[in-house]
Amino acid sequence: MPSDELWKLWKLHQVDQALLEIRKRAAALDPGKQLHAEIKTLEKGLDESEARKLAAEQKDLELQQKGAEERAAKLEKELYGGKVVNPREVETMQKEIDSLKRQRSQIEERILEIWEALPPAKEQAAKIEVALEKRKKLLAEHQKQVMQDKSQLERDYKEYSEKRPQLAKAVGPALLSRYEAIRANHGGIGMAEIVKERSCGGCGTLLPERVIQQAKDNKVVTCEACHRILILHGAHE
Ligand SMILES: [Zn+2]
Repeated sequence: MPSDELWKLWKLHQVDQALLEIRKRAAALDPGKQLHAEIKTLEKGLDESEARKLAAEQKDLELQQKGAEERAAKLEKELYGGKVVNPREVETMQKEIDSLKRQRSQIEERILEIWEALPPAKEQAAKIEVALEKRKKLLAEHQKQVMQDKSQLERDYKEYSEKRPQLAKAVGPALLSRYEAIRANHGGIGMAEIVKERSCGGCGTLLPERVIQQAKDNKVVTCEACHRILILHGAHE
């Protein structure tokens, strides 16, 4: 059975261990990296989809069409308004009007092609949209869960933190500062129990008989391998 002081230190150690565990779990909370990456890929796929390309091209062609129509109308007005009389000038204008007409019919042809190509392309894009929505929903659910986990961890952390000062105060200052120094140098864990009356529960090292005996005699002993203060549980359990 450990000494009263060692037992009190063990209580403190358990709180410290719990606080450490909570910090680790909080740090390991996943904001949904995988889903974020999948959403990004799908969004890119949608941006680069045939449907988007065709729609953009169509818009562009319609603008070109409008420009050509306006230009042709202007030229025809000038031509038939009787102001232009120079035959060479008339010829040049007529040529431009013809060229604009050819351009317009080419654009019309391409627009018709786009109309045909659009429905299957849109179907393809719709599939991406469905996959995207599904993942966005999953991400929202995941994030909600993470927020819940996070606040639970924060509540637990607060609760343990509040217990700590009282427990630390109960330990003698010499033992406490020794414990704190070990904790600071050994990953936040300053204590370990002797398991099966022969090895260190912290690092698994087989302990010398002398150390076990000292622990039994209520002496403060440490593990030679991991330097933690050892406790041998007995009647307290
Ligand atoms: Zn050890």
